[in-house]
Amino acid sequence: MLNKGGNRDTTRMLMDRSVSGRVGVITPELDVPAASLPDAVYLRDSLPLPEVSEPEVVQYFTSLSQLNFSIDTHFYPLGSCTMKYNPKINDEVAFLPGFAGIHPQQPAEQSQGALELLYRLQEFLTEVTGMSATSLATLAGAHGELAGVLMMRAYHLARGDSGRTKMGIPDSAHGTNPASAAMAGFDVVTIPSDADGNTDLAALREIAGDDLAGVMITLPSTLGLFDSHILEVCQVVHECGGLVYGDGANMNALLGRAKLGELGFDVCHLNLHKTFSTPHGGGGPGAGPVCCGEILTPYLAAPVVERTDAGEYTLSEPAESIGKISGFHGNFGVLVRAYTYIRTLGAAGLLSISGNAVLNANYIMHELKDIYALPYDRTCMHEVVFSADLQRERGVSGLEVAKRLLDYGFHAPTMYFPLIVHEALMIEPTESETKETLDAFIDALRAIDAEATSEPELVQHAPHTTPVSRLDEATAARRPVLRWEPVEAAAD
Ligand SMILES: *Cc1c(COP(=O)(O)O)cnc(C)c1O
Repeated sequence: MLNKGGNRDTTRMLMDRSVSGRVGVITPELDVPAASLPDAVYLRDSLPLPEVSEPEVVQYFTSLSQLNFSIDTHFYPLGSCTMKYNPKINDEVAFLPGFAGIHPQQPAEQSQGALELLYRLQEFLTEVTGMSATSLATLAGAHGELAGVLMMRAYHLARGDSGRTKMGIPDSAHGTNPASAAMAGFDVVTIPSDADGNTDLAALREIAGDDLAGVMITLPSTLGLFDSHILEVCQVVHECGGLVYGDGANMNALLGRAKLGELGFDVCHLNLHKTFSTPHGGGGPGAGPVCCGEILTPYLAAPVVERTDAGEYTLSEPAESIGKISGFHGNFGVLVRAYTYIRTLGAAGLLSISGNAVLNANYIMHELKDIYALPYDRTCMHEVVFSADLQRERGVSGLEVAKRLLDYGFHAPTMYFPLIVHEALMIEPTESETKETLDAFIDALRAIDAEATSEPELVQHAPHTTPVSRLDEATAARRPVLRWEPVEAAAD
């Protein structure tokens, strides 16, 4: 199971095991002139810090690191976030001294290798998305979205088309889409999904007018579905003068099979920290490159890397660029990992990613749909969204099913998202897990369903084997305890 029981208490004790005068570090001899101390009023007589030995410190932090679920220890079928295996060679390459030690302000003539890598990655991603150009400057998926919609805005304004204030976004889009559109100053108009989970074309036609800047489509949608109306969606939007944004965060569903540019999208972003395997979670680090077609290329976020006729690599700013959107040239270490991943797999490998991602999700769907309700019963893409409605009837919620999975040694899937599915359980098996792992996961979900009948309390109070059981999630979010405090100070 997750860890050797009692780890949590051990970690607490370690921090509270301070013994006055115990020293865990030897400070080096002073090798600079001694400075005089400030006025005594500003000085404290004592500082309540834990006084512990070096082994205690090492044990403390190592124990903490083992409390977590991670993709390196467990199957992690978190829908919409592609928590897949990250080959260690990516890290090795990113740690090469020439990459890890380079300074972002080093002049271009001294950074030709790094710039060439960025240039080649731009070219790969442009090819993968079927677009014309790519900027690597954006640091996350949502950041790429913001850059993309700002580019759409700049395009309309440059044409004097200033009345386009609306952004249409389906209710099956990722939650960051409306946030990005609003941040860029647009009024978000929600487009409902139809009974099959596709964009409702009639509803789209109603909002398609000269005030529509464009639409943002998550493909595959957060229902795990490929919108079979996508060509018509692009057509309707283009006919009214709008542009189509593609949320390509989960490109592992489409790699090598469908290109957003060829489907009619004008601009999109990719999540290198999902599809192209950089470890992520807990908020970072990431890279969300923006790729766009010809009409938006002049507006791309700066900088982009160009290759001169003489074969030199330079940083440049596109003619009508929305400008810089982050420091320097993007999240370089992540970009090196993505480049390594693409190069180690090659074209055939990339194609097998989408094949296996979709096959695995459909396998899980097929093996579980007799006991977990399936709101949209059709071939899914990289993830499958069930509803725990049938378990709910026996008093066990989707959240409880998810918590119980932890006892079986699996990370919980995404729950209660997308919002349009009641008791949603959103499962993304990813392309990198074996059939044996998927079978064990399927068995666990079947066992939990049986428990919902035979022993519902067991599921309702899960998890039973983790270092902490049910967290008070609201308090954890509102009043997080992020640092240790000495007992005396905490008592005031
Ligand atoms: C993860 C995700 C995002 C947001 O990406 P971040 O890097 O977390 O900002 C956007 N859209 C979809 C579909 C995603 O899965």
